[in-house]
Order: sequence, then C-alpha cells, then structure tokens
Amino acid sequence: MAIFDDVVVNAKSAAAAVSKKAGAFYDLSKLRISCAGLRGELTKKYQALGESVFNNDPAETIDVLKDEIADLKQDIADIERTIAASSNTVFCPKCGEKLSKSARYCSTCGARVVKNEEPVAEEAPASESAPETASEETAE
Ligand SMILES: [Zn+2]
Repeated sequence: MAIFDDVVVNAKSAAAAVSKKAGAFYDLSKLRISCAGLRGELTKKYQALGESVFNNDPAETIDVLKDEIADLKQDIADIERTIAASSNTVFCPKCGEKLSKSARYCSTCGARVVKNEEPVAEEAPASESAPETASEETAE
C-alpha cells in the first residue's frame, strides 16, 4: 500500500508540475510510469468499492471511494493528455485505447475523442478558477 501511495503522490505532483509548464519538454517515461502506478491504484480502488458494496458498507464509505476513483481517473486523464500532447498520440477517454492525434472517434469503442484544447465538461468550472495559467496565455 505504501508503495502505491508514494506513486500516487509522485504522479500527482508530476501532473501538477506539468500543467504549470505547458509547452515545455517533459520526461515522458517518468509520466508513463506515474500513469501506470495510478492505473494500479485505480484498479485497487475499484476492488475496494466492489467489496464495500458487497459488504453493504455505509454510503459515506462508498462515496469516499467514488471520490477517490474520480480523482484518480482525472489524474490519469491529465497525465495521458500531457503525454499525448508531447507525442503524436491521444488516448480514448472511455477505453484508454491509443489513437492517432488526428482521430476524432475511438476505433475500438467509438467514443468521441476529446482534444487537448477542448475543456472536459467536468473540468470547465475548475479551470475558470485558475486565472494564473489563463493570464499567462493571454499576456502576449
Ligand atoms: Zn475507446
């Protein structure tokens, strides 16, 4: 568990650092390792959620797990988008399939591919409350 926790923390700080330095060159292999760690953590959370549901745990317990899963998925999506932006690939938001950057729909599951420049619906309010990056972009 402790190892996974470390990986999650590292991946989160890596993603945070990356989102602050958009346009710079990143250590892609590091991000990929972070992403793999987060995926492992996500699998464990799903397992824990399944157990909680099976055990009829209180709703708060299940809600906490759901929040953690949502956070992990968001973090994974952030890292994947960063990786994709630095390489010539994008990842399907639904099934995670690796797709060409020009792909508009996933060739595996048919989901619409959200492009880097298009804000994800859930993220939209959060990005508005972060004026530091916005002012940087509009400065010139
Ligand atoms: Zn897909």
